[in-house]
Amino acid sequence: AKKAVLGPLVGAVDQGTSSTRFLVFNSKTAELLSHHQVEIKQEFPREGWVEQDPKEILQSVYECIEKTCEKLGQLNIDISNIKAIGVSNQRETTVVWDKLTGEPLYNAVVWLDLRTQSTVENLSKRIPGNNNFVKSKTGLPLSTYFSAVKLRWLLDNVKKVQKAVEENRALFGTIDSWLIWSLTGGIHGGVHCTDVTNASRTMLFNIHSLEWDKELCEFFEIPMEILPNVRSSSEIYGLMKISHSLKAGALEGVPISGCLGDQSAALVGQMCFQDGQAKNTYGTGCFLLCNTGHKCVFSEHGLLTTVAYKLGRDKPVYYALEGSVAIAGAVIRWLRDNLGIIKSSEEIEKLAKEVGTSYGCYFVPAFSGLYAPYWEPSARGIICGLTQFTNKCHIAFAALEAVCFQTREILDAMNRDCGIPLSHLQVDGGMTSNKILMQLQADILYIPVVKPSMPETTALGAAMAAGAAEGVGVWSLEPEDLSAVTMERFEPQINAEESEIRYSTWKKAVMKSIGWVT
Ligand code: ADP
Repeated sequence: AKKAVLGPLVGAVDQGTSSTRFLVFNSKTAELLSHHQVEIKQEFPREGWVEQDPKEILQSVYECIEKTCEKLGQLNIDISNIKAIGVSNQRETTVVWDKLTGEPLYNAVVWLDLRTQSTVENLSKRIPGNNNFVKSKTGLPLSTYFSAVKLRWLLDNVKKVQKAVEENRALFGTIDSWLIWSLTGGIHGGVHCTDVTNASRTMLFNIHSLEWDKELCEFFEIPMEILPNVRSSSEIYGLMKISHSLKAGALEGVPISGCLGDQSAALVGQMCFQDGQAKNTYGTGCFLLCNTGHKCVFSEHGLLTTVAYKLGRDKPVYYALEGSVAIAGAVIRWLRDNLGIIKSSEEIEKLAKEVGTSYGCYFVPAFSGLYAPYWEPSARGIICGLTQFTNKCHIAFAALEAVCFQTREILDAMNRDCGIPLSHLQVDGGMTSNKILMQLQADILYIPVVKPSMPETTALGAAMAAGAAEGVGVWSLEPEDLSAVTMERFEPQINAEESEIRYSTWKKAVMKSIGWVT
């Protein structure tokens, strides 16, 4: 058969908390040509612990690349058209591996993991109240969420890690580093690097100087030699190198030239390049990022300051204000896996639709404490307002509503910090295929919610960064290149008063969830 004529193609690995995807885009139109997705196991070895297997993650990347290439073949698309590969990843999740054997020395400690709560409490006693140097250097509150404390835990508790550090064999990285090192050859010359966005989530990185910070590494007692090199989000890091486990050998030699933490990638994929532009991504957690341009804006209302992107070695850095919600899609997965009231995440919509109301039931899914704007590690999940009448459909509805209320709290904080309220909310992520959720969100925010028809904006952002890199140059970052992307709008349909009443009842429920554990 005749092969289709196409512009250069760009691939993107999107390694999320719930699943891994590989996607291939046409660089001229941003059209998604083919993709494959594999769900990732999460292990909960003890209360509050969340781990994943780094090798399973790597294997899932190989599998997604292979399957996507097969599908392209079936479409008569020549995979030699793939000119670059970008990586976007779940952030903060921490891996330590042995550079001589390529073996991880422990499971990946996932961003949601709470095992470092006492470490955090002890460390915070050593930060003077009037000089929070951790916050001013990193933009982050001291919390179990970020990599530094997870790495501290591994160094304190895992013999294999201690030994490898002593013998100068240990490498630390977030998932991007682990993947890029492995995909560029691993023990045969793999490149040990990360980008500024991922580095900015470790709590060891100075977001002003854009370097690992010596004082922070001393504070957390982290040996600096195990840290990856920090690069921009768009440059050639290395070339794909055949691995015995990767049959898709056709990608051999393709440059890996884009790297962004998933939330930064979505900001780029949604083309939020201007000061004041924002997006909200609904995945395992939910993350609202607002571009603040070249300025580091420090929040007065519980938001983080983070690196948004730096698209090239000589390009300027952009910052963002971020509202992070730990549990969004994870609550749906919990209803599926722990309560068994649904068999698939999609089924939640059918249950919620049956009743169309939570009937006064409120669900605060504070499984990992509460992140923004509260930063309350003492919170735990609650379902309240139950009556004899409440059934699983109401609980399903309340779970969806919880995601919307949490976003409202972040948006309120963002509006207060920025001064200019957002006129609409751009959204993306796995949960946005749920139309009830989207309508509820518009009702609860009382502004329109706007969703691109192609929801894979995280992967798109990584592909854009990879395609635009110096030495690749197949993607220009001009809006007209996104001709394949159209928008769907959800307008508020309830009255403003009803929206306010529901929101204030939600806040009452949140107060009940705080202080549950001491
Ligand atoms: P991540 O990037 O964190 O891996 P995704 O963006 O892939 O997450 O979204 C997956 C999450 O969205 C899962 O937690 C899943 O339970 C949830 N989800 C997927 N489809 C739906 C749906 N139709 N309704 C509600 N939640 C959904």
